[in-house]
Amino acid sequence: MRAICLDQNGIQFHPDYQSPVPLSGEVIVDVIAAGICETDLQLAKGYMGFSGVLGHEFVGIATSGPLAGARVVGEINCNCRKCPRCLSGLGNHCVDRTVVGIHRHDGAFADQVAIPQTSMHIVPDSISDDQAVLIEPLAAALQIQQQIEISSVQNAIVLGDGRLANLCAQAISQSVKNIKVVGKHELKLARFRKFGIETIHLNDLIREKDFDLVVDCTGSVTGLPLALQLVKPRGTIVMKTTVAADHVISLAPVVIDEISVVGSRCGPFDLAIELLQADRFDLSGLVTHRFALEEAAKAFEMAVDPSAFKVVFDVMNTTAN
Ligand SMILES: [Zn+2]
Ligand SMILES: [Zn+2]
Repeated sequence: MRAICLDQNGIQFHPDYQSPVPLSGEVIVDVIAAGICETDLQLAKGYMGFSGVLGHEFVGIATSGPLAGARVVGEINCNCRKCPRCLSGLGNHCVDRTVVGIHRHDGAFADQVAIPQTSMHIVPDSISDDQAVLIEPLAAALQIQQQIEISSVQNAIVLGDGRLANLCAQAISQSVKNIKVVGKHELKLARFRKFGIETIHLNDLIREKDFDLVVDCTGSVTGLPLALQLVKPRGTIVMKTTVAADHVISLAPVVIDEISVVGSRCGPFDLAIELLQADRFDLSGLVTHRFALEEAAKAFEMAVDPSAFKVVFDVMNTTAN
């Protein structure tokens, strides 16, 4: 099968990669489309030391099991379901987990991917393939309100103007009316204003400790120090993006201002699907560029271009045979 792999030579397209062999409880999914995310870009820079097939945001068709023939998306954490963490409901933190396209598990930038049966969710017909590719990051955005008491937040600011920032801002704006986004790219900031969200260019930002909630979606080591300059005493910083580089920062303000720092990762797929079905999110136009798997290099170049939002590999429609 065709696949895009990361190895010591970087990102490579393989026309003849070995097809995935499903482990017990896994089902082969024929990939329809898969999106490039910031994590893929970080992995390419060495984050997590991953090698293998990239890709964790996807929609496809299950080829066997109870969902055979259905259009599905898959949660990315593959857990053992037996360890104390799994048994206590913390499957996303299973000590023995693999993570699709991120950690010890081949991903979805390929014709096929192996996904645990229990991780799959059916995509209702009313949700398009373009929207379905965004279910994983939308679920991650919705995780914020699973972790903090969003109803007590008076005002919030999202740092970063990229893909996850956009979904996080949309998610938070459903509960918090006073929300701002700060970024560096006029083209990207304009996408937030479409949803009625106020934007500030980084150069114009007044650095005062004014915000109950600061969400760092910068994907950069500069995000956390900036968040500490903006969060109110007793406020909350949610760290939403991972970075390959190390942070060098004084954490004294966390103590002095009694700040809660919350790491936040994967979220509820069921809720993301339910809200999409109810038209509570406008994801139209967010897929801006499409490529065949063969065009891996071009696609990854485009994914860092400010004019791009979600860059997607159209896998099924570009199959050679
Ligand atoms: Zn992702
Ligand atoms: Zn486990």
